[in-house]
Amino acid sequence: MAKAPVLTPRADDFPRWYQELITKAELADNGPVRGTMVIRPYGYGLWERMQQEMDARIKAAGASNAYFPLFIPQSYLTREAEHVEGFAPELAVVTHGGGRELEEPVVVRPTSETIVNEYFSKWVQSYRDLPLLINQWANVVRWELRPRVFLRTTEFLWQEGHTAHATREEARDYAAYIHQEVYADFMENVLAMDVVPGRKTARERFAGAINTLTLEGMMGDGKALQLGTSHELGQNFARAFDTRYLSRDGRQEHVWQTSWGSTTRMVGALVMMHGDDRGLRVPPRLAAVQAVVVAVTGDEAVLARAGEIGDRLRTAGVRVRVDDRTDVPFGRRAVDWELKGVPVRIDVGPRDLDSGTAVLVRRIAGTREPVAVEALAALVPEALEDDHGLLLAQSRRLRESRTVDVTTVEEAAEAAGTGWARIPWAALGPEGEARLAERGVSVRCLVAADGSVPERDDQRGNVAVVARAY
Ligand code: AMP
Repeated sequence: MAKAPVLTPRADDFPRWYQELITKAELADNGPVRGTMVIRPYGYGLWERMQQEMDARIKAAGASNAYFPLFIPQSYLTREAEHVEGFAPELAVVTHGGGRELEEPVVVRPTSETIVNEYFSKWVQSYRDLPLLINQWANVVRWELRPRVFLRTTEFLWQEGHTAHATREEARDYAAYIHQEVYADFMENVLAMDVVPGRKTARERFAGAINTLTLEGMMGDGKALQLGTSHELGQNFARAFDTRYLSRDGRQEHVWQTSWGSTTRMVGALVMMHGDDRGLRVPPRLAAVQAVVVAVTGDEAVLARAGEIGDRLRTAGVRVRVDDRTDVPFGRRAVDWELKGVPVRIDVGPRDLDSGTAVLVRRIAGTREPVAVEALAALVPEALEDDHGLLLAQSRRLRESRTVDVTTVEEAAEAAGTGWARIPWAALGPEGEARLAERGVSVRCLVAADGSVPERDDQRGNVAVVARAY
């Protein structure tokens, strides 16, 4: 009898495959309150590595970490009209505390532009205080109607950057810098993800922004996911909170601002973009465990050899773990490491001892071969480098093979059934966009004719990337 697959095949039921993988690879469980999640240690380990890599890039961009309160006076939210309109349906509001009704309800932050501006307006006096570049790592709450673990939860973890600048140009350049040098760089060079950088249409823009830059990724089923956004806020919040500075020529001016965020959604994206029918495949530059050395049996000599290989790899700079849990059958452990997507596995059994070999199993390349123990310190780092390129190329190939160029709304809607469509913005426009929205299809972003990020929606030659989205 053929063994039942560990997971429902992706082609049979993609959402079910996703849920099963999240559970079986021990990434997360659903929380007791709808839309919340418990992130388990293996899933949290992925997030921690994301935080480390992102935090280094954010600091290299000149921003410093700070922390603002979870609770925001409700009145702050109402000061910027578009912002409150956009966020009102998603707010969690606290009306009672300490057994009494509060005089003014407080909201649990859905994002922190308002409270940040309240303090920026105190901290910024003159042009010498600018630019002010702040980031915070925190949790936020948005009462989501269609929650899905990691992708869209009511409470999620993120970083949110908030900056204030003297000129519009400086703010625009900084938002673009974060988009490219922090987000796109991290996604391609650490997550091995193919992403499309673009500009959101007015309809899809962040509530309160004058421009939103996005990175969109194609998931394994052809749908799109927004992976990170960088906003130009103009002077909208500065006016609402009176955040002003004394310019070089002695005038009081409102500051120009940006905000930008990326979240635990990236863990879900990792699963949906790189996962296969056997489980997750963790990109090697992200992986907290890049290679696992598995002792097949519990003989002392086998355990000693596994430990020795672990030491060699560690010395070669590989993040390695030795699996000596030999009271669990080898087959079960092998399936478990496949599910968890550790890029390289090295199996050491009693028969390998005399020959001085071990079996090198590559999760991403899909190969399995005996190799000399002596060669591992060179082979494994090479394999990891190679795997990064393989994942990136696979995700790019998927997007390219499932994207079609079309010219009508009808064709765009149809193409969005299986993948993405590219349609000239001039042929679509806000009206065509609204018609697509009625059919559950959205404009993910606009890209310029040469593939760069356009500076205006109506720039000549703009192409709309259209898809169904998570
Ligand atoms: P925003 O502040 O709306 O621009 O969102 C910042 C980032 O958070 C976006 O790039 C989204 O991909 C992500 N995001 C938005 N809502 C959620 C959610 N409910 N769960 C996880 N991530 C989210």
